[in-house]
Amino acid sequence: MSYKLHHEEEGTCLECGSVIRGRKDKQFCSLSCKNRYHNRVLMNKRLMRAKTMAALTGNHTVLEALLHEGKTGAEMHELLDLGFDPGYVTEHRRGHFRHDEYACFDIWYCRTESRIFNVRRKVSDPR
Ligand SMILES: [Zn+2]
Repeated sequence: MSYKLHHEEEGTCLECGSVIRGRKDKQFCSLSCKNRYHNRVLMNKRLMRAKTMAALTGNHTVLEALLHEGKTGAEMHELLDLGFDPGYVTEHRRGHFRHDEYACFDIWYCRTESRIFNVRRKVSDPR
């Protein structure tokens, strides 16, 4: 019976891919690789959040313009031409008439594949 007290394994650096010797839970070959890796992860998160906020802001601008023109609906192809991206919403629920209802911040609307309708600004809860 033999025990290996100092089990060493070779791993590869998550940043540069070079071989790491030593503790098997070590993920990086150097502090600079560790920093580069974590900076990139943070940057990707920031970019993802910025992209989502830009899409939601763009949708909100399109919806506000509709309301400003006194419209409560529009064809999806028109919205897409204006840069509306139906994949970005802040809330979703099944509405009273079994239509899917979506929100972009304070503006709610119903949506089908081809159009949106019943666009209205959310009335704030008086409670
Ligand atoms: Zn490295």
